[in-house]
Amino acid sequence: MAEQVPRSTHKFGGASVKDAAAIRRVGQLLSNHLRPEEQAVVVVSAMGKTTNALEEVWRSPGPEQEGRWGDIVQAHLDVATELGLDVADRLQSAFEASWQEAQSAQREGLAEAAYDAFVSAGELASTTLVAFWCAALGLDAVWWDVRETVRTSGPHRHARVDEAALWDAGASLREALAASQVVVTQGFIGRHDCGRTSTLGREGSDYSAALLAVAVGAESVTIWKDVPGMMNADPKWHPEAQTVPKVDHAEALELSYYGASVIHPRTVKPLQQRGLPLWIRSFLAPEGPATLIDDFPDLVPDQPMFIWRDDQVWVEVATSDQSFLAEDHLKDLFSALDSAGVHVRMMQQHATHFGLVTDRDDIRLQTLEELLGQAFQVRREDGLLLLTVRHGDAAVVHQLTANREVVVEQVAGVTTRRLMRN
Ligand code: ASP
Ligand code: MG
Repeated sequence: MAEQVPRSTHKFGGASVKDAAAIRRVGQLLSNHLRPEEQAVVVVSAMGKTTNALEEVWRSPGPEQEGRWGDIVQAHLDVATELGLDVADRLQSAFEASWQEAQSAQREGLAEAAYDAFVSAGELASTTLVAFWCAALGLDAVWWDVRETVRTSGPHRHARVDEAALWDAGASLREALAASQVVVTQGFIGRHDCGRTSTLGREGSDYSAALLAVAVGAESVTIWKDVPGMMNADPKWHPEAQTVPKVDHAEALELSYYGASVIHPRTVKPLQQRGLPLWIRSFLAPEGPATLIDDFPDLVPDQPMFIWRDDQVWVEVATSDQSFLAEDHLKDLFSALDSAGVHVRMMQQHATHFGLVTDRDDIRLQTLEELLGQAFQVRREDGLLLLTVRHGDAAVVHQLTANREVVVEQVAGVTTRRLMRN
């Protein structure tokens, strides 16, 4: 294995391929940006808000599904026409395959498997458009079915990937890369050990880009966003927000854990383990400010980082008889959290109850309540705001939260967190 070819993975999210003009821009960007000898895996999300629309199809009662689905198929055919691409047959057969897979899962009563089959159509279609557009531009580009490479297990909608098996699973993808400079493939989806399509959780394409970097032995990952890299705050809340040029892997892990939405939380770990750099760049200004996430063990962050999350829910779990909350209760509680898929952003233990903060997701919270059953009482408060500040001083935190009622506060190391009423 003496290949010295530079390989990379590049990820484009929904906003960067939202319509024909956006797809043209991606093609242009790759033509300008890729070095002649560089082999690139280009990981693409579904166009714009397609995944939301496909979730609607899945949620709709049977007779309505076909109409909504037909609209999504037509929208993709229209983009192909606008781009002058002759891919109608390919698009139609990709949609047809997903539809058939979803219908068969539904018939078997496998609702979550049907979800995965429906929503995967978004990525299968967007990558067809991007791959053929790149080829039309003159790039040596081919389409790849990522389900050949990303093998999964565990629950549908939140599949797990055996990261240790990626290199072996990546052999055929590496061959495809050796034959064509650019391989365009899907983020977010994979193939389960049962043979069905799976998905890695909403916004999972960043994670896919990291996984594929491992599978092909890439030297870097670039995530192309509509913002100039990772900023020290959301410009919506802080107009003075700035791009942070360098971030250590460990710090990036912390930030995404605390809810910084610039990258999907699972993305950094596989890169950190292999010492791979991750660039976050703007597809609107490819040469503008950017962030490099890499091994910077001695880097001392010189700007405070602010992470705001709204629509947070505070959940208090107590034993029904108000008894002391002991270890075996906690075991039951954590296993219920895991089964319900409730992602805990912050937690606090008291003698008789346990409090936690999570994003609002009514279905999961209801599942949690059902799982905890008779033994526990669950109380929740919705509509809260969570501020996390890292590397900031107390004065900054006070100033930012001056007129708000604080429900819970936690200070640990360089992190201060405040849960507040809006
Ligand atoms: N298309 C999927 C979603 O919208 C995956 C992604 O964009 O990363 O969640
Ligand atoms: Mg998306």
